[in-house]
Amino acid sequence: MITLKDWQKRVGEKVINLIREGNIVLLQAPTGSGKTLFALYVGFQVKEKILFVTRTHNEFYPVYREAKRFFPDKKFSFIVGKPIACPLSSADVDSEDISCKYCELLSEKDIVVNDSPFNFLKKLKSQALDEKFCPYYSLFKASTEADLVTLTYPYIFIPWLREGLGLKLSEYFIVVDEAHNIDNIIDLEERKINEITVELAIKEVKSEKAKEILRSLKENLKKYVINEDKYVLLNDYPKLTEEEIQILYDEYEDLRKELVQQKKIRKLHLGSIIKFYKILDDENIRVFTIKNSLVAKPIDSSTYIDILNEPELSVMLMSGTLQPLEYFQALGITRKMVYIDAEQETKKKLSGSYDCYISLDVTTSYPLRNENMWKKYASYLLKIYYNSSKHVFSIFPSYEILDNVTKLIKSIPLLKESENSSIEDIIEKVSKGNEKYLIAAVARGKLSEGIELVNEGQSLISDVVIAGIPYPAIDDYLKLRLEMMSKRLGKDVQQLVMDTTALIAVKQAIGRGIRNEKDFVHVWLLDKRFDKILWKKKVNCFNSKKIRL
Ligand code: SF4
Repeated sequence: MITLKDWQKRVGEKVINLIREGNIVLLQAPTGSGKTLFALYVGFQVKEKILFVTRTHNEFYPVYREAKRFFPDKKFSFIVGKPIACPLSSADVDSEDISCKYCELLSEKDIVVNDSPFNFLKKLKSQALDEKFCPYYSLFKASTEADLVTLTYPYIFIPWLREGLGLKLSEYFIVVDEAHNIDNIIDLEERKINEITVELAIKEVKSEKAKEILRSLKENLKKYVINEDKYVLLNDYPKLTEEEIQILYDEYEDLRKELVQQKKIRKLHLGSIIKFYKILDDENIRVFTIKNSLVAKPIDSSTYIDILNEPELSVMLMSGTLQPLEYFQALGITRKMVYIDAEQETKKKLSGSYDCYISLDVTTSYPLRNENMWKKYASYLLKIYYNSSKHVFSIFPSYEILDNVTKLIKSIPLLKESENSSIEDIIEKVSKGNEKYLIAAVARGKLSEGIELVNEGQSLISDVVIAGIPYPAIDDYLKLRLEMMSKRLGKDVQQLVMDTTALIAVKQAIGRGIRNEKDFVHVWLLDKRFDKILWKKKVNCFNSKKIRL
């Protein structure tokens, strides 16, 4: 027997009707309000089966837990990529590096997922080696027979991966969780190469011809890449002829075969180079340079989003920080969408609460960035840290600002996000409970979206600091995307995109501190530009206190 919360019951009936009428529902409901159970409840009312699409594998577990608890009769399964499911590969390989046609384990076994996804996968992989079957394809098979399947974004949004699933999507209720990330689905197909990639590929190949092609590519690359922290469009870049690509491809094929036969599949940097050049055939791709690399990136998300426009699909997009409806239209959703805000529907607060402080003497506005400003930010952070009762979570608009400020903070335990930070390491340090930390993260980075610091469901964070309005950098890539989105919507979307992106980063950061209805945090909006009606309304900080150093 499922006992639903008041909002789940009230909003549930409305959502079920809207989905049955053919609308896409955009559900905005805060973290900790019970969105997962809500989605399962609605989904099983609308269809017999559910596809639960999450951003990361970590998000499979809550779905499994709620399903076991409230829908024990429903068969659960999940899909993970080859690099994680394959017992012969290391986790850093690309799917394409794994060539299954040469594998002696290439067969499916009937399996029933009877444990949490990662415990089950661990056991399955060791069983697969003993009994000689493939866990990846066996999970695919199990998923065709399950009532509830969890999978990550690429399996729904990348056409060739979706087709490989062999699922009839119209039979499912499709839930896209943390759907504000849909904005970034085009990153799923981006390809990157740099001098190091080519250097490592040279060590992989055997023929002198292939080595020569790669050596010349390496020399050429140096002329084009620049060490900027933002995307710079390249109209010209090092090219390879079809014949050269074919020579590299033949070597790649031999290497893939060798690794599978040796039962030790590792990452092939040669594969990254081939994939980079293959993807350039797509007219939606542009080549940029950023941080000494070449990046091939799609600029139009509609190729990926288009699947949601299929009229026979039942779809709900949900998040605690969802973009407005017209943003989804600008991204390429053409079907009728209905926006449901669970708090507005019920006129009730469904998550924890916070008070707000706005500082009037700092800003990260570009013309006012200087050493003195970074000192002021450092002073604020120290003051907040010394007065906090638990850990302090702070976000910065960019790595550059994060570095400029945190280099001035020496006397306190600091956990600083870098491009190589691991969420698990930070959680481990914080959870030991020996020290109170200042956590410094970058907006839209790994920590601000993915870290959950809780003890028995209660947040371990007492203060959230927004150190500057986290607007995205307007670089060549963003300009091209804005152009595409403006064209689609028939109006200039720059302000909409800038404000929405910054607001989501702010709300995500606040969400790191509020994990359930009882949590309470202090929110420090350290930028004088927050002292405007529009921002106070968006962040829900009408009764904020104004502060100065
Ligand atoms: S076990 Fe074999 S068939 Fe399965 S994913 Fe790995 S290489 Fe492919």
